[in-house]
Amino acid sequence: MTYKTIIGLEIHVELMTKHKIFCNCPNEFGGEANTHVCPVCLGLPGALPVLDKEALEYGIKAGIAFNGKISKLIKMDRKNYYYSDLTKGYQISQNDIPFCDGGYLEIELEDGTKKVNLERIHIEEDTGKQTHSEEGGTLLDFNRAGVPLIEVVTKPDMNSAEEARLFLDKLRTTLKYIGVSNVKMEEGSLRCDVNINVVNTETGTKSNIAEIKNLNSFKGVVKAIEFEEKRHIELLELGRNSERETRRWDETKGETIIMRKKGGASDYRFAEDGDIPPIKIADEWIEEIRNSLPELPHAKKERFINDYDLSDYDAGVLTQSKELSIFFEDTLKYIDDSKLVSNWIMGDVLRRLNDDEIEIEDSNLTPNALADLLVLIRDGKINNNTGKKVLKEMFDTEKSADTIVKEKGLIQISDEGALKEIIEKVLSENEQSIIDYKNGKDRAIGFLVGQIMKSSKGKANPQLVNKMLLELINER
Ligand SMILES: [Zn+2]
Repeated sequence: MTYKTIIGLEIHVELMTKHKIFCNCPNEFGGEANTHVCPVCLGLPGALPVLDKEALEYGIKAGIAFNGKISKLIKMDRKNYYYSDLTKGYQISQNDIPFCDGGYLEIELEDGTKKVNLERIHIEEDTGKQTHSEEGGTLLDFNRAGVPLIEVVTKPDMNSAEEARLFLDKLRTTLKYIGVSNVKMEEGSLRCDVNINVVNTETGTKSNIAEIKNLNSFKGVVKAIEFEEKRHIELLELGRNSERETRRWDETKGETIIMRKKGGASDYRFAEDGDIPPIKIADEWIEEIRNSLPELPHAKKERFINDYDLSDYDAGVLTQSKELSIFFEDTLKYIDDSKLVSNWIMGDVLRRLNDDEIEIEDSNLTPNALADLLVLIRDGKINNNTGKKVLKEMFDTEKSADTIVKEKGLIQISDEGALKEIIEKVLSENEQSIIDYKNGKDRAIGFLVGQIMKSSKGKANPQLVNKMLLELINER
């Protein structure tokens, strides 16, 4: 039997506005519990919410970046449910008229580009946060209550965990580019619900959709999808079906666990929020926001391929984060050699950032400093291997390439007289290798070059060494 997996995602993204969505409390992560609160975000009687313009603007930015249609008239609705971290007894959200309708994002698959369509994007307030104390009590912190969120709802267009991961990655990169969210999953600014079922492609039998709530890592999303795929298929094979239910991912057990049977939207008794009048959105404002958007990752990638003659893969890596793409282009202002710069960033620079688990903007490497190092390499003052060592030292000490090269005496030896002395010495110490080479064992050359590099403390000019070594052997 063959099965097709059907996946839709609902992604909650916290917007990094200055204030909360309906009051003037600061929108900051953390802080001592219940210090960023006021009567409005606590929902005290008589407090009136006012929609924050910046929150709506950030939402619209995301809507435009995701190719959606921005509504001309929006209203806010109350989603009624009782929960301890929701003091009002309802959450202000959007029900039937979201601020953004439709839209799509494209993901790159091995066999081409795939369009993942969006159902809608709406805006709403975040709830408070509850934690459980060791004594068994529940602690409530309302600093997060009223933080602006957008909820991106996709159509069920994804068919594998990998596609879901690529989509989330694209969504996260784009949101970061346009600067509306810091998209830190570990701080909860990006949370994801997965809707999943499978269909038997021969019989058309479908499993019921399960919803997995509040996944807070890419790894969690992938593992939960893979677990559910298997669970649904196993049930269908047994002639049974999965329940329509809400589940959560248990990281330690490595499985999804049922939370509750799924209720319909009617359970929420949605009603228009009487405190917030409908808001008209002017075309001019939408245009203004559209014009304020930076170049988006996909467009930038295309430009990098065309302008800098980079491969599709290299351009993709270099435009993965806005900061990395800026670092690349800034380095080119100091050294006009896109191939050399991209090779070094994609190689030793990214490797180091990965090892240190930091982003380029948090490292002490600057475009100017990297360019200085690459100029030394391009001009043959130091060789590639020395360059790698110097770069490492630059990361560790913040010293300039010039300083490190001078302090350690690393200038490449390109003087033929000096090189000849080193080569002759190595040859006289390795007569056997010369004989081997003359008997057709080409590998002997590699060994000799290694000895010469070692004897020059890595400073010999490798091209010159190769050329002179052959000449000097043949003279013997
Ligand atoms: Zn407040």
